[in-house]
This record gives sequence, C-alpha cells and structure tokens, in this order.
Amino acid sequence: MIELQNIKKSFNDKEVIKGINLSVDKGEVITLIGRSGSGKTTLLRMMNALEIPSEGTVVVNGETYTAENKKSQIKVRKQSGMVFQSYNLFPHKTAIENVMEGLITVKKMSKQNALSEALQLLKKVGLESVKDQRPHALSGGQQQRVAIARALAMNPKVMLFDEPTSALDPELVNDVLKVIKDLANEGMTMVIVTHEMRFAREVSDRMVFINDGLIGEEGKPETLFTQPKTEALKKFLNVIE
Ligand code: ATP
Repeated sequence: MIELQNIKKSFNDKEVIKGINLSVDKGEVITLIGRSGSGKTTLLRMMNALEIPSEGTVVVNGETYTAENKKSQIKVRKQSGMVFQSYNLFPHKTAIENVMEGLITVKKMSKQNALSEALQLLKKVGLESVKDQRPHALSGGQQQRVAIARALAMNPKVMLFDEPTSALDPELVNDVLKVIKDLANEGMTMVIVTHEMRFAREVSDRMVFINDGLIGEEGKPETLFTQPKTEALKKFLNVIE
C-alpha cells in the first residue's frame, strides 16, 4: 500500500532522513516511535506529499509523485487521510458541518447525502449527540474524533496519524485511541506516529523505531519491547517507561 524507497530528506543542509526503505502492506498498522527530533513526523508527511523527499521514491496505492509535478502530489494526497496533533477544524462550522465540508466540495455530494454520510461517520466515532456543536464547545478528544471522521469521509486507502493524542489531557486520550483501535480492527491500513507506548504495543502489527533519521529496528511489538537489539532502542524504552 505504501512504499518508501531509499528516502532522504534535508532541511537547509541538515539531513534529517538519511536513507529509509519501508513498505506498509494493505491492512497493516505500523507505529513509528523514536526520540523527539528523530524524523518520525517528517517521514509521515512524505507519505502524503506534505514534505517532498530530497531523494528517493514514495508510492501510495500505486501512485507516485515528483517534486515538480503538483498534480502528482495531489493524486497521492487523495489516497490517504491525515490526522494532526492539532485538530484544525473549521471554527465556525458545527461538528457535522466539518465532516460534510469535504463530502460536498471534494466528493460533490448533494447536501442531503452528505448529511446522512456525515451522521454515520460521527456515529462511528461516538459523537452523534454533539453533532450540532461548534469546535470550541467540544473537548480536545471530541474535536480530534471529528477530525478523524472528517478524514474518513474521503474514503482514504490509508490513514496517517501524527501524534493524535499528544495535545490532549490524559483523561481524553483513551477515547481517541479507542477510535483508532476500532479502525485497526476493521482492517484499515494505518501509519501512526505516537509516544503512547502502551497503545503502540497493543495496536501495531509492526513497530518501527526511527533513530537519527534511519530505521534503528523494526518488528513485532513484543519482540521490540522484550528483546531490543540496539543500545539506542534499549535507552529509548527505558526513558519512556
Ligand atoms: P517529535 O517527536 O518531537 O515530533 P520527530 O521525530 O517527529 O520529533 P521531526 O518533526 O520529523 O521529528 O523533525 C526532525 C528534524 O527535522 C528536527 O531536527 C526538526 O527540527 C527538523 N525539521 C522538521 N521540519 C522542518 C522544517 N520544515 N524546516 C526545518 N527543519 C525541520
């Protein structure tokens, strides 16, 4: 579903991704873990052309892009739904209007169809009862779930999550993680950058430890947690736990 082939990325002369090969299979859930600044977010953003690699090729659901060809980037972007740390909802629209927006403007649905589709999606993330509230009246966890519903509305082939719970108060984290776990159980292909190690252990088919712009280790969560091979991963897990 996603192929990263020999990806490198520099910002102003500083190389932050130093040669990464990674494939994500259909239905697979991958978490990217690693120290702050190791390059996880940059790697994720290259999967939907929000950052463009300095070298290497990204293929998502058979689509690839180049730095010069904006249309190719948009095509790749359409394959995935992205959820950010900050929810970025439209502040003047209600929860359901936020979900309907893309259905009407991008998918060209009638208002009536968009309404019933958006309602289904809000049900899925457990927010039917607050559908007419504006973002400021919702908790951070609820806003993040609206953001997930909005991303799902575009029927993405893959969902990309960039630290979806790191801006949330601890008591709100679980509701968001439950929605992501439900998606995993439904077979959604997902790549998740997270610092929530317990969640990562539960939800991942494969964990990828990014260390200083390279894949330090990758494998099943149990193996990485119980038999880390490198000093870097041992150190990281000790710091986290
Ligand atoms: P965190 O866990 O803190 O989010 P991360 O592993 O996701 O960290 P990245 O956000 O990918 O790390 O950043 C990797 C490095 O690239 C950092 O040194 C960061 O300062 C740098 N960087 C990221 N984006 C840019 C940018 N747009 N311009 C310049 N430098 C950047």
